Amino acid sequence: MEFKESRTSKEEVLRRAEEYVSRDMDPLSGRMWGHVYVLGAPDVIELGKALYLKFMDKTMLDFTVYPSVLRMENELVGMVSSLLHGDDEVVGNFTYGGTESIILAMKAARERFERSSSGTPEIVLPATAHPAFRKAAEYLGMRVVTVKVDGQFRADLEDVKGKLGGNTVALIASAPNYPFGTVDDVQAMAELALDRGVWFHVDACVGGFLLPFLRELGEDVPPFDFSLEGVSSVSADLHKYGYAPAAPLSSSSGTPSSGRALSSPRPSGRVTR
Ligand SMILES: *Cc1c(COP(=O)(O)O)cnc(C)c1O
Repeated sequence: MEFKESRTSKEEVLRRAEEYVSRDMDPLSGRMWGHVYVLGAPDVIELGKALYLKFMDKTMLDFTVYPSVLRMENELVGMVSSLLHGDDEVVGNFTYGGTESIILAMKAARERFERSSSGTPEIVLPATAHPAFRKAAEYLGMRVVTVKVDGQFRADLEDVKGKLGGNTVALIASAPNYPFGTVDDVQAMAELALDRGVWFHVDACVGGFLLPFLRELGEDVPPFDFSLEGVSSVSADLHKYGYAPAAPLSSSSGTPSSGRALSSPRPSGRVTR
């Protein structure tokens, strides 16, 4: 399609949008299991839409122009941190998606590694981990070391032990992973990471706003978050079971006992608490 020389009417643009979406699946049909996180609470959906409209013209670039955005980032990071058992030292970023959250966490891990080592940095992840980690490795010049999974699609702990090495920047677990919905043995992996002094990221993009509430409903949900000493960073998606409109996401990075903090391409958006 070429750039139009003449004006297209508003009606025509809307008609065309209608035509384009006619072949999409309906996210509100109740017949999709993925790519949609719809809550059966119309008032919450309406609230999300109203807030989306209120902020659609604003950006996170400069908090002197839009202080509300920084304020919300701080409040959100605080809320997510407390939900995930972070202490006062946990810091975080409000990001544009789970992928960005993961890339930022991997960048922080790589920078900590580079302060102490040389050699090609490696990230060790179960085969079921989200592709965002492979993107992060590509962007950040790291090698991916894949751990096999057991019959329940959980990281094989013996294989994890064998794959952690001198160039390991980070170990990754999913809570749960996207393709199968199974949760890795986060507790055992956190102990391994602590033992080896390795950054341990828990990808709770799906589970961050799901597992705490399943636990509240009486399900047996083993610890998967900052309650475990070995957990360095966590990603949790507000646009999934946080039921926020599908743009903003959140990432928390924690336990600066080893002197670390998430670095962000937007220093203005960095939370220091
Ligand atoms: C959705 C998801 C991601 C990535 O999030 P995007 O918002 O799609 O960038 C990462 N990990 C898991 C487990 C996810 O479900």
